[in-house]
Amino acid sequence: MLLVPCPWCGKRAETEFFCAGQVRPPRSELVDADDDEWIRHLFYKKNIRGVLEENWWHEKGCGEWFTLYRDTVTHQFIGKE
Ligand SMILES: [Zn+2]
Repeated sequence: MLLVPCPWCGKRAETEFFCAGQVRPPRSELVDADDDEWIRHLFYKKNIRGVLEENWWHEKGCGEWFTLYRDTVTHQFIGKE
């Protein structure tokens, strides 16, 4: 089982968390975006092999949102363990 390092609670089972996916640039950077840029921003995700920055919610714990870096190959969390 994957252990997710919550900054407030420490390592907990992944079943306590919800992963909201990769961190995206803020919408404020897309003020002048055309339709294609909005579609890419909202619906297209990178499918990288390597380290990805992700948003996590400790849904069944402290209820906090936080950002982690996870290696998509090994599922290891980077820099927070
Ligand atoms: Zn927590």
